[in-house]
Amino acid sequence: YSTSAAVETPITPSVKVNYTQLLINGQFLDSISGKTFPTFDPRTGEVIANVAEGDAKDVDLAVSAARKAFDEGPWPRMTAYERSKIILRFADLVEKNAEEIAALETWDNGKTYEQSAKLEVPMFVRIFRYYAGWADKIHGLTVPADGSYNVQTLHEPIGVAGQIIPWNFPLLMFAWKVGPALACGNTIVLKTAEQTPLSALYVAKLLHEAGLPEGVLNIVSGYGPTAGAALASHMEVDKLAFTGSTETGKVVLELAAKSNLKPVTLELGGKSPFIVCEDADVDKAVEMAHFALFFNQGQCCCAGSRTFVHEKVYDEFIEKARKRAVNRVVGDPFLGGIEQGPQVDGEQFKKILRYIKSGIEGGATLEAGGERFGSKGYYVQPTVFSNVKDDMKIAQEEIFGPVQTILKYKEIEEVIRRANASRYGLAAGVFTQNINTANRLTRALRVGSVWINCFDIFDAAIPFGGYKMSGHGREKGIYSLSNYLQVKAVVTPLENPAW
Ligand code: ADP
Repeated sequence: YSTSAAVETPITPSVKVNYTQLLINGQFLDSISGKTFPTFDPRTGEVIANVAEGDAKDVDLAVSAARKAFDEGPWPRMTAYERSKIILRFADLVEKNAEEIAALETWDNGKTYEQSAKLEVPMFVRIFRYYAGWADKIHGLTVPADGSYNVQTLHEPIGVAGQIIPWNFPLLMFAWKVGPALACGNTIVLKTAEQTPLSALYVAKLLHEAGLPEGVLNIVSGYGPTAGAALASHMEVDKLAFTGSTETGKVVLELAAKSNLKPVTLELGGKSPFIVCEDADVDKAVEMAHFALFFNQGQCCCAGSRTFVHEKVYDEFIEKARKRAVNRVVGDPFLGGIEQGPQVDGEQFKKILRYIKSGIEGGATLEAGGERFGSKGYYVQPTVFSNVKDDMKIAQEEIFGPVQTILKYKEIEEVIRRANASRYGLAAGVFTQNINTANRLTRALRVGSVWINCFDIFDAAIPFGGYKMSGHGREKGIYSLSNYLQVKAVVTPLENPAW
Protein backbone atom coordinates (compact mmCIF):
# COMPACT_ATOMS: atom_id res chain seq x y z
CA TYR A 1 0.00 0.00 0.00
CA SER A 2 1.11 3.43 -0.70
CA THR A 3 1.96 4.55 2.82
CA SER A 4 4.14 7.49 1.91
CA ALA A 5 1.45 9.99 2.84
CA ALA A 6 0.33 8.36 6.10
CA VAL A 7 1.17 10.47 9.15
CA GLU A 8 1.20 9.46 12.78
CA THR A 9 0.17 12.89 14.06
CA PRO A 10 -2.90 13.94 12.10
CA ILE A 11 -3.15 17.38 10.56
CA THR A 12 -5.09 19.82 12.74
CA PRO A 13 -8.01 21.15 10.69
CA SER A 14 -8.17 24.89 10.20
CA VAL A 15 -11.78 25.10 11.33
CA LYS A 16 -13.34 25.65 14.77
CA VAL A 17 -16.47 23.85 15.87
CA ASN A 18 -18.78 26.74 16.66
CA TYR A 19 -22.19 25.10 16.53
CA THR A 20 -23.00 22.08 18.65
CA GLN A 21 -26.48 22.87 19.95
CA LEU A 22 -29.89 22.01 18.53
CA LEU A 23 -31.29 24.53 16.09
CA ILE A 24 -34.95 25.18 16.86
CA ASN A 25 -37.03 28.15 15.75
CA GLY A 26 -33.94 30.00 14.56
CA GLN A 27 -32.15 29.62 17.92
CA PHE A 28 -29.28 27.40 19.02
CA LEU A 29 -30.45 25.62 22.18
CA ASP A 30 -29.26 22.93 24.55
CA SER A 31 -31.35 19.79 24.62
CA ILE A 32 -34.16 19.73 27.18
CA SER A 33 -32.50 16.85 29.03
CA GLY A 34 -29.18 18.72 29.01
CA LYS A 35 -27.54 15.60 27.57
CA THR A 36 -24.77 15.67 24.96
CA PHE A 37 -23.03 13.01 22.88
CA PRO A 38 -19.53 12.95 21.45
CA THR A 39 -18.68 13.07 17.77
CA PHE A 40 -15.34 11.51 16.89
CA ASP A 41 -12.41 12.15 14.58
CA PRO A 42 -12.21 8.93 12.56
CA ARG A 43 -8.47 9.41 12.03
CA THR A 44 -7.80 8.85 15.73
CA GLY A 45 -11.01 7.97 17.53
CA GLU A 46 -10.62 11.15 19.62
CA VAL A 47 -13.59 13.36 20.48
CA ILE A 48 -13.99 16.42 18.23
CA ALA A 49 -16.88 17.96 20.16
CA ASN A 50 -19.80 17.16 22.40
CA VAL A 51 -23.08 17.86 20.70
CA ALA A 52 -26.52 18.48 22.22
CA GLU A 53 -28.45 15.21 22.20
CA GLY A 54 -32.03 15.69 21.15
CA ASP A 55 -34.72 13.18 22.02
CA ALA A 56 -38.52 12.97 21.78
CA LYS A 57 -39.09 16.18 23.77
CA ASP A 58 -36.76 18.22 21.60
CA VAL A 59 -38.36 16.74 18.49
CA ASP A 60 -41.73 17.90 19.86
CA LEU A 61 -40.38 21.40 20.29
CA ALA A 62 -38.84 21.41 16.82
CA VAL A 63 -42.02 20.09 15.22
CA SER A 64 -44.14 22.78 16.94
CA ALA A 65 -41.75 25.42 15.62
CA ALA A 66 -41.98 23.97 12.10
CA ARG A 67 -45.75 23.62 12.41
CA LYS A 68 -46.15 27.26 13.46
CA ALA A 69 -43.80 28.42 10.71
CA PHE A 70 -45.88 26.50 8.19
CA ASP A 71 -49.35 27.37 9.50
CA GLU A 72 -48.72 31.03 10.33
CA GLY A 73 -45.27 32.06 9.11
CA PRO A 74 -44.18 33.87 5.98
CA TRP A 75 -42.32 31.03 4.25
CA PRO A 76 -45.20 29.24 2.46
CA ARG A 77 -46.94 32.58 1.88
CA MET A 78 -44.16 34.66 0.37
CA THR A 79 -43.77 34.69 -3.38
CA ALA A 80 -41.84 31.80 -4.87
CA TYR A 81 -39.37 34.34 -6.22
CA GLU A 82 -38.64 35.57 -2.67
CA ARG A 83 -38.00 32.00 -1.54
CA SER A 84 -35.79 31.42 -4.52
CA LYS A 85 -33.71 34.52 -3.72
CA ILE A 86 -33.11 33.38 -0.13
CA ILE A 87 -31.96 29.96 -1.34
CA LEU A 88 -29.63 31.59 -3.89
CA ARG A 89 -28.17 33.89 -1.20
CA PHE A 90 -27.56 30.79 0.91
CA ALA A 91 -25.71 29.10 -1.98
CA ASP A 92 -23.46 32.19 -2.26
CA LEU A 93 -22.70 32.11 1.46
CA VAL A 94 -21.80 28.43 1.31
CA GLU A 95 -19.46 29.15 -1.57
CA LYS A 96 -17.81 31.95 0.44
CA ASN A 97 -17.26 29.63 3.40
CA ALA A 98 -16.47 26.57 1.29
CA GLU A 99 -13.07 25.79 2.79
CA GLU A 100 -14.31 25.75 6.38
CA ILE A 101 -17.33 23.68 5.49
CA ALA A 102 -15.22 21.16 3.58
CA ALA A 103 -12.78 20.93 6.50
CA LEU A 104 -15.58 20.30 8.98
CA GLU A 105 -17.03 17.59 6.75
CA THR A 106 -13.68 15.83 6.44
CA TRP A 107 -12.95 16.09 10.14
CA ASP A 108 -16.28 14.58 11.17
CA ASN A 109 -16.59 11.98 8.41
CA GLY A 110 -13.05 11.03 7.36
CA LYS A 111 -13.57 11.55 3.62
CA THR A 112 -10.69 13.26 1.84
CA TYR A 113 -10.54 17.03 1.99
CA GLU A 114 -10.02 17.07 -1.74
CA GLN A 115 -13.33 15.27 -2.21
CA SER A 116 -15.16 17.52 0.27
CA ALA A 117 -13.75 20.70 -1.24
CA LYS A 118 -13.73 19.90 -4.96
CA LEU A 119 -16.75 17.68 -5.26
CA GLU A 120 -19.16 17.82 -2.38
CA VAL A 121 -19.34 21.47 -1.38
CA PRO A 122 -19.64 22.53 -5.06
CA MET A 123 -22.33 19.88 -5.59
CA PHE A 124 -24.13 21.08 -2.46
CA VAL A 125 -24.18 24.60 -3.87
CA ARG A 126 -25.27 23.33 -7.27
CA ILE A 127 -28.22 21.42 -5.80
CA PHE A 128 -29.49 24.45 -3.89
CA ARG A 129 -29.18 26.64 -6.98
CA TYR A 130 -30.97 23.99 -9.02
CA TYR A 131 -33.91 23.90 -6.59
CA ALA A 132 -33.92 27.69 -6.22
CA GLY A 133 -34.53 27.63 -9.96
CA TRP A 134 -37.54 25.36 -9.51
CA ALA A 135 -39.19 27.43 -6.77
CA ASP A 136 -41.02 29.79 -9.14
CA LYS A 137 -41.73 27.16 -11.80
CA ILE A 138 -43.97 24.92 -9.74
CA HIS A 139 -47.59 25.13 -10.81
CA GLY A 140 -50.68 23.10 -11.46
CA LEU A 141 -52.79 22.42 -14.54
CA THR A 142 -56.08 23.44 -16.04
CA VAL A 143 -57.94 20.16 -16.55
CA PRO A 144 -60.42 19.55 -19.42
CA ALA A 145 -62.95 17.53 -17.37
CA ASP A 146 -66.35 16.38 -18.66
CA GLY A 147 -69.25 18.69 -17.79
CA SER A 148 -69.54 22.43 -17.33
CA TYR A 149 -66.78 22.95 -14.83
CA ASN A 150 -63.68 24.96 -14.53
CA VAL A 151 -61.16 22.47 -13.11
CA GLN A 152 -57.68 23.30 -11.94
CA THR A 153 -55.01 21.68 -9.80
CA LEU A 154 -53.07 23.60 -7.18
CA HIS A 155 -49.62 22.27 -6.26
CA GLU A 156 -49.28 23.15 -2.59
CA PRO A 157 -46.46 22.45 -0.15
CA ILE A 158 -47.13 19.30 1.85
CA GLY A 159 -46.47 20.94 5.24
CA VAL A 160 -43.95 19.92 7.91
CA ALA A 161 -41.34 17.56 6.45
CA GLY A 162 -39.41 15.22 8.76
CA GLN A 163 -36.06 14.27 7.28
CA ILE A 164 -33.61 11.68 8.59
CA ILE A 165 -30.17 11.48 6.99
CA PRO A 166 -27.13 9.18 7.22
CA TRP A 167 -23.43 9.85 7.84
CA ASN A 168 -21.80 8.90 4.51
CA PHE A 169 -22.56 12.19 2.71
CA PRO A 170 -23.74 14.54 5.49
CA LEU A 171 -23.76 17.67 3.31
CA LEU A 172 -25.14 16.12 0.14
CA MET A 173 -27.91 14.29 1.97
CA PHE A 174 -28.82 17.62 3.57
CA ALA A 175 -28.97 19.20 0.10
CA TRP A 176 -31.00 16.39 -1.52
CA LYS A 177 -33.60 16.69 1.23
CA VAL A 178 -33.65 20.33 2.28
CA GLY A 179 -33.29 21.79 -1.24
CA PRO A 180 -36.55 20.53 -2.77
CA ALA A 181 -38.50 20.82 0.50
CA LEU A 182 -37.62 24.52 0.79
CA ALA A 183 -38.20 25.26 -2.88
CA CYS A 184 -41.75 23.90 -2.56
CA GLY A 185 -42.48 26.08 0.50
CA ASN A 186 -42.40 23.47 3.27
CA THR A 187 -40.96 23.67 6.75
CA ILE A 188 -38.56 21.06 8.06
CA VAL A 189 -37.29 19.13 11.03
CA LEU A 190 -34.04 17.41 10.08
CA LYS A 191 -32.35 14.72 12.13
CA THR A 192 -28.70 14.32 11.25
CA ALA A 193 -26.74 11.12 11.79
CA GLU A 194 -25.17 10.77 15.23
CA GLN A 195 -21.75 10.09 13.64
CA THR A 196 -21.69 13.37 11.66
CA PRO A 197 -23.76 16.17 13.17
CA LEU A 198 -21.42 19.12 12.56
CA SER A 199 -21.63 20.35 8.95
CA ALA A 200 -25.44 20.58 8.93
CA LEU A 201 -25.41 22.98 11.90
CA TYR A 202 -22.83 25.17 10.20
CA VAL A 203 -24.72 25.47 6.93
CA ALA A 204 -28.06 25.88 8.69
CA LYS A 205 -26.63 28.96 10.40
CA LEU A 206 -25.75 30.36 6.97
CA LEU A 207 -29.23 29.63 5.71
CA HIS A 208 -30.62 31.84 8.48
CA GLU A 209 -28.10 34.55 7.61
CA ALA A 210 -29.42 34.37 4.05
CA GLY A 211 -32.87 35.31 5.34
CA LEU A 212 -34.63 32.04 6.13
CA PRO A 213 -37.45 32.84 8.57
CA GLU A 214 -37.29 31.22 12.00
CA GLY A 215 -38.83 27.78 12.39
CA VAL A 216 -38.54 26.87 8.71
CA LEU A 217 -35.51 24.62 9.19
CA ASN A 218 -35.00 22.98 12.58
CA ILE A 219 -32.14 20.59 13.25
CA VAL A 220 -32.16 17.95 15.95
CA SER A 221 -28.90 16.06 16.45
CA GLY A 222 -29.31 12.75 18.25
CA TYR A 223 -29.73 9.01 17.99
CA GLY A 224 -32.05 7.03 15.76
CA PRO A 225 -34.20 5.06 18.20
CA THR A 226 -34.88 8.24 20.26
CA ALA A 227 -34.86 11.39 18.12
CA GLY A 228 -35.29 9.62 14.76
CA ALA A 229 -38.15 7.41 15.91
CA ALA A 230 -39.92 10.39 17.55
CA LEU A 231 -39.80 12.25 14.24
CA ALA A 232 -41.00 9.26 12.18
CA SER A 233 -43.96 8.70 14.50
CA HIS A 234 -44.88 12.34 15.12
CA MET A 235 -48.56 13.14 14.51
CA GLU A 236 -47.79 16.70 13.34
CA VAL A 237 -45.23 15.71 10.71
CA ASP A 238 -46.85 15.61 7.26
CA LYS A 239 -44.14 13.82 5.32
CA LEU A 240 -41.07 11.73 6.08
CA ALA A 241 -37.96 11.40 3.95
CA PHE A 242 -35.40 8.86 5.08
CA THR A 243 -31.99 7.75 3.84
CA GLY A 244 -30.24 4.89 5.61
CA SER A 245 -30.21 1.13 5.91
CA THR A 246 -33.00 -1.12 4.66
CA GLU A 247 -33.54 -2.42 8.21
CA THR A 248 -34.12 1.08 9.61
CA GLY A 249 -36.19 1.96 6.54
CA LYS A 250 -38.64 -0.76 7.53
CA VAL A 251 -38.78 0.60 11.06
CA VAL A 252 -39.53 4.19 10.04
CA LEU A 253 -42.11 3.13 7.45
CA GLU A 254 -43.91 1.20 10.16
CA LEU A 255 -43.72 4.14 12.59
CA ALA A 256 -45.12 6.44 9.92
CA ALA A 257 -47.96 4.02 9.16
CA LYS A 258 -48.81 3.43 12.81
CA SER A 259 -48.93 7.13 13.66
CA ASN A 260 -50.56 9.39 11.06
CA LEU A 261 -49.90 7.55 7.76
CA LYS A 262 -47.54 10.27 6.60
CA PRO A 263 -46.15 9.49 3.13
CA VAL A 264 -42.58 8.22 3.23
CA THR A 265 -39.75 8.31 0.73
CA LEU A 266 -36.97 5.84 1.41
CA GLU A 267 -33.47 5.69 -0.02
CA LEU A 268 -31.97 2.49 1.34
CA GLY A 269 -29.21 -0.03 0.82
CA GLY A 270 -27.79 -1.61 -2.29
CA LYS A 271 -25.54 -4.33 -3.65
CA SER A 272 -25.06 -2.90 -7.07
CA PRO A 273 -23.63 -4.95 -9.93
CA PHE A 274 -20.82 -3.53 -12.03
CA ILE A 275 -20.76 -5.62 -15.22
CA VAL A 276 -17.60 -5.82 -17.30
CA CYS A 277 -18.38 -7.28 -20.71
CA GLU A 278 -16.03 -9.31 -22.88
CA ASP A 279 -15.39 -6.45 -25.30
CA ALA A 280 -14.50 -3.93 -22.58
CA ASP A 281 -11.25 -2.00 -22.57
CA VAL A 282 -9.85 -3.76 -19.51
CA ASP A 283 -7.67 -0.93 -18.22
CA LYS A 284 -10.55 1.52 -18.30
CA ALA A 285 -12.94 -1.04 -16.82
CA VAL A 286 -10.55 -1.76 -13.94
CA GLU A 287 -10.24 1.93 -13.15
CA MET A 288 -13.98 2.53 -13.30
CA ALA A 289 -14.83 -0.59 -11.26
CA HIS A 290 -12.23 0.50 -8.70
CA PHE A 291 -13.78 3.96 -8.45
CA ALA A 292 -17.31 2.48 -8.34
CA LEU A 293 -16.42 0.51 -5.23
CA PHE A 294 -13.70 2.43 -3.39
CA PHE A 295 -15.07 5.98 -3.75
CA ASN A 296 -15.83 7.52 -0.33
CA GLN A 297 -14.08 4.60 1.45
CA GLY A 298 -16.68 2.27 -0.06
CA GLN A 299 -19.36 3.99 1.99
CA CYS A 300 -21.91 4.54 -0.79
CA CYS A 301 -25.34 2.96 -0.89
CA CYS A 302 -24.90 2.58 -4.66
CA ALA A 303 -21.30 1.27 -4.54
CA GLY A 304 -20.53 -1.15 -7.38
CA SER A 305 -20.08 -3.91 -4.84
CA ARG A 306 -20.56 -6.95 -7.08
CA THR A 307 -18.02 -6.72 -9.89
CA PHE A 308 -19.11 -9.25 -12.54
CA VAL A 309 -16.33 -9.88 -15.06
CA HIS A 310 -16.66 -11.87 -18.29
CA GLU A 311 -14.54 -15.02 -18.25
CA LYS A 312 -12.56 -13.94 -21.33
CA VAL A 313 -11.08 -10.91 -19.53
CA TYR A 314 -11.34 -12.22 -15.97
CA ASP A 315 -7.70 -13.15 -15.28
CA GLU A 316 -6.33 -9.93 -16.73
CA PHE A 317 -8.94 -7.93 -14.83
CA ILE A 318 -8.11 -9.57 -11.48
CA GLU A 319 -4.41 -8.90 -11.84
CA LYS A 320 -4.97 -5.25 -12.74
CA ALA A 321 -7.66 -4.70 -10.09
CA ARG A 322 -5.29 -6.13 -7.48
CA LYS A 323 -2.49 -3.79 -8.55
CA ARG A 324 -4.81 -0.80 -8.58
CA ALA A 325 -5.99 -1.54 -5.02
CA VAL A 326 -2.43 -2.02 -3.78
CA ASN A 327 -1.49 1.35 -5.27
CA ARG A 328 -4.43 3.17 -3.70
CA VAL A 329 -3.08 5.96 -1.53
CA VAL A 330 -4.43 5.68 2.03
CA GLY A 331 -3.75 8.20 4.76
CA ASP A 332 -4.76 11.36 6.57
CA PRO A 333 -7.64 12.75 4.49
CA PHE A 334 -6.44 16.31 5.01
CA LEU A 335 -3.26 15.62 3.01
CA GLY A 336 -3.12 16.25 -0.73
CA GLY A 337 -2.98 13.23 -3.02
CA ILE A 338 -4.76 10.94 -0.56
CA GLU A 339 -7.37 8.70 -2.18
CA GLN A 340 -8.73 7.00 0.90
CA GLY A 341 -9.24 8.17 4.48
CA PRO A 342 -10.57 6.28 7.48
CA GLN A 343 -14.02 4.68 7.77
CA VAL A 344 -16.50 6.82 9.67
CA ASP A 345 -16.36 5.08 13.06
CA GLY A 346 -15.26 2.06 15.08
CA GLU A 347 -18.51 0.23 14.50
CA GLN A 348 -18.26 0.38 10.70
CA PHE A 349 -14.54 -0.43 10.89
CA LYS A 350 -15.20 -3.61 12.90
CA LYS A 351 -18.12 -4.61 10.71
CA ILE A 352 -15.96 -4.37 7.57
CA LEU A 353 -13.19 -6.46 9.12
CA ARG A 354 -15.82 -9.08 10.05
CA TYR A 355 -17.00 -9.21 6.43
CA ILE A 356 -13.41 -9.61 5.24
CA LYS A 357 -12.99 -12.53 7.63
CA SER A 358 -16.20 -14.07 6.36
CA GLY A 359 -14.95 -13.75 2.77
CA ILE A 360 -11.73 -15.57 3.63
CA GLU A 361 -13.52 -18.27 5.60
CA GLY A 362 -16.13 -18.65 2.88
CA GLY A 363 -13.44 -19.59 0.35
CA ALA A 364 -13.06 -16.41 -1.72
CA THR A 365 -9.48 -15.63 -2.79
CA LEU A 366 -7.96 -12.61 -1.04
CA GLU A 367 -6.03 -10.76 -3.73
CA ALA A 368 -5.15 -7.61 -1.80
CA GLY A 369 -5.57 -6.01 1.62
CA GLY A 370 -7.59 -7.80 4.26
CA GLU A 371 -6.48 -5.92 7.36
CA ARG A 372 -6.59 -2.59 9.09
CA PHE A 373 -4.26 0.07 7.75
CA GLY A 374 -1.81 1.57 10.23
CA SER A 375 -2.27 1.32 13.96
CA LYS A 376 -4.50 4.28 14.75
CA GLY A 377 -8.01 5.34 13.73
CA TYR A 378 -10.41 3.49 11.47
CA TYR A 379 -8.39 2.92 8.30
CA VAL A 380 -8.93 -0.29 6.31
CA GLN A 381 -6.60 -1.59 3.58
CA PRO A 382 -8.13 -1.52 0.10
CA THR A 383 -9.24 -5.13 -0.22
CA VAL A 384 -9.98 -7.26 -3.28
CA PHE A 385 -11.57 -10.72 -3.37
CA SER A 386 -11.70 -12.88 -6.50
CA ASN A 387 -13.50 -16.23 -6.96
CA VAL A 388 -16.51 -14.82 -5.18
CA LYS A 389 -19.66 -16.97 -5.41
CA ASP A 390 -23.20 -15.58 -5.44
CA ASP A 391 -24.20 -17.30 -2.21
CA MET A 392 -21.34 -15.89 -0.13
CA LYS A 393 -22.23 -13.29 2.47
CA ILE A 394 -19.79 -10.80 0.92
CA ALA A 395 -21.71 -11.08 -2.37
CA GLN A 396 -25.12 -10.64 -0.80
CA GLU A 397 -24.85 -8.14 2.04
CA GLU A 398 -23.87 -4.51 2.03
CA ILE A 399 -20.28 -4.26 3.37
CA PHE A 400 -20.12 -0.46 3.14
CA GLY A 401 -16.35 -0.47 3.04
CA PRO A 402 -13.30 -0.71 0.73
CA VAL A 403 -13.84 -4.36 -0.20
CA GLN A 404 -14.20 -5.27 -3.87
CA THR A 405 -15.78 -8.63 -4.63
CA ILE A 406 -15.17 -9.99 -8.13
CA LEU A 407 -17.35 -12.69 -9.71
CA LYS A 408 -16.89 -14.48 -13.04
CA TYR A 409 -19.62 -14.94 -15.68
CA LYS A 410 -19.97 -16.39 -19.16
CA GLU A 411 -23.27 -15.46 -20.81
CA ILE A 412 -25.19 -12.21 -20.91
CA GLU A 413 -28.47 -13.87 -19.88
CA GLU A 414 -26.66 -15.49 -16.97
CA VAL A 415 -25.23 -12.20 -15.70
CA ILE A 416 -28.64 -10.52 -15.99
CA ARG A 417 -30.21 -13.27 -13.89
CA ARG A 418 -27.42 -13.15 -11.28
CA ALA A 419 -27.27 -9.34 -11.14
CA ASN A 420 -31.02 -9.21 -10.54
CA ALA A 421 -30.93 -11.98 -7.92
CA SER A 422 -30.70 -9.49 -5.07
CA ARG A 423 -33.22 -7.98 -2.70
CA TYR A 424 -31.72 -4.63 -3.64
CA GLY A 425 -32.16 -2.64 -6.86
CA LEU A 426 -30.39 0.67 -6.46
CA ALA A 427 -27.89 1.01 -9.30
CA ALA A 428 -25.76 -0.82 -11.84
CA GLY A 429 -22.65 -0.14 -13.88
CA VAL A 430 -22.22 -1.57 -17.37
CA PHE A 431 -18.89 -1.58 -19.16
CA THR A 432 -19.06 -2.39 -22.86
CA GLN A 433 -18.43 -0.86 -26.26
CA ASN A 434 -21.31 -2.77 -27.81
CA ILE A 435 -24.48 -0.68 -28.04
CA ASN A 436 -26.70 -3.75 -28.26
CA THR A 437 -25.23 -5.25 -25.12
CA ALA A 438 -25.63 -1.89 -23.35
CA ASN A 439 -29.27 -1.63 -24.42
CA ARG A 440 -30.04 -5.22 -23.47
CA LEU A 441 -28.54 -4.78 -19.98
CA THR A 442 -30.07 -1.35 -19.43
CA ARG A 443 -33.58 -2.67 -19.95
CA ALA A 444 -33.11 -5.98 -18.13
CA LEU A 445 -31.55 -4.67 -14.92
CA ARG A 446 -34.11 -3.90 -12.21
CA VAL A 447 -32.38 -0.88 -10.71
CA GLY A 448 -32.99 2.84 -10.30
CA SER A 449 -29.80 4.04 -12.05
CA VAL A 450 -27.73 2.50 -14.83
CA TRP A 451 -24.35 4.04 -15.53
CA ILE A 452 -22.89 2.92 -18.85
CA ASN A 453 -19.10 3.28 -19.12
CA CYS A 454 -19.22 5.67 -16.15
CA PHE A 455 -20.32 5.51 -12.50
CA ASP A 456 -21.57 7.74 -9.68
CA ILE A 457 -22.64 10.59 -11.93
CA PHE A 458 -24.74 12.68 -9.54
CA ASP A 459 -25.97 15.76 -11.32
CA ALA A 460 -28.61 17.80 -9.49
CA ALA A 461 -31.05 17.09 -12.33
CA ILE A 462 -30.61 13.30 -12.45
CA PRO A 463 -33.13 11.39 -10.32
CA PHE A 464 -31.81 8.82 -7.84
CA GLY A 465 -33.61 6.06 -5.99
CA GLY A 466 -34.21 2.36 -5.76
CA TYR A 467 -36.22 -0.55 -7.06
CA LYS A 468 -37.16 -3.39 -4.70
CA MET A 469 -35.80 -3.11 -1.15
CA SER A 470 -33.54 -0.21 -2.08
CA GLY A 471 -36.40 2.17 -1.47
CA HIS A 472 -39.46 4.14 -2.50
CA GLY A 473 -39.45 7.31 -4.56
CA ARG A 474 -36.78 9.39 -6.26
CA GLU A 475 -34.66 12.29 -5.09
CA LYS A 476 -33.01 15.06 -7.12
CA GLY A 477 -34.25 16.39 -10.43
CA ILE A 478 -37.87 17.19 -11.11
CA TYR A 479 -38.95 13.95 -9.42
CA SER A 480 -38.07 15.18 -5.94
CA LEU A 481 -40.60 18.01 -6.12
CA SER A 482 -43.56 15.65 -6.01
CA ASN A 483 -42.29 14.29 -2.67
CA TYR A 484 -42.91 17.71 -1.15
CA LEU A 485 -46.15 18.76 -2.84
CA GLN A 486 -49.83 18.07 -2.38
CA VAL A 487 -52.16 18.25 -5.37
CA LYS A 488 -55.46 19.95 -4.75
CA ALA A 489 -58.22 19.64 -7.37
CA VAL A 490 -60.44 22.73 -7.50
CA VAL A 491 -63.78 22.49 -9.31
CA THR A 492 -66.02 25.48 -10.07
CA PRO A 493 -69.24 25.22 -12.10
CA LEU A 494 -69.26 27.42 -15.18
CA GLU A 495 -72.18 29.81 -15.12
CA ASN A 496 -72.60 29.96 -18.83
CA PRO A 497 -71.39 26.69 -20.31
CA ALA A 498 -72.20 27.74 -23.84
CA TRP A 499 -70.12 30.91 -23.74
P1 ADP B 1 -26.38 3.15 9.18
O1 ADP B 1 -26.35 1.71 9.49
O2 ADP B 1 -25.78 3.52 7.90
O3 ADP B 1 -25.93 4.04 10.31
P2 ADP B 1 -29.11 3.70 9.79
O4 ADP B 1 -30.26 3.34 8.94
O5 ADP B 1 -28.98 3.04 11.12
O6 ADP B 1 -27.87 3.46 8.88
O7 ADP B 1 -29.03 5.27 10.03
C1 ADP B 1 -29.51 6.24 9.14
C2 ADP B 1 -30.23 7.30 9.92
O8 ADP B 1 -31.36 6.71 10.55
C3 ADP B 1 -29.42 7.94 11.06
O9 ADP B 1 -29.75 9.31 11.15
C4 ADP B 1 -29.89 7.18 12.27
O10 ADP B 1 -29.75 7.88 13.48
C5 ADP B 1 -31.37 6.99 11.94
N1 ADP B 1 -32.01 5.89 12.66
C6 ADP B 1 -31.45 4.75 13.14
N2 ADP B 1 -32.38 4.00 13.79
C7 ADP B 1 -33.55 4.67 13.72
C8 ADP B 1 -34.88 4.43 14.20
N3 ADP B 1 -35.19 3.34 14.90
N4 ADP B 1 -35.84 5.35 13.93
C9 ADP B 1 -35.54 6.46 13.22
N5 ADP B 1 -34.32 6.75 12.75
C10 ADP B 1 -33.32 5.88 12.99
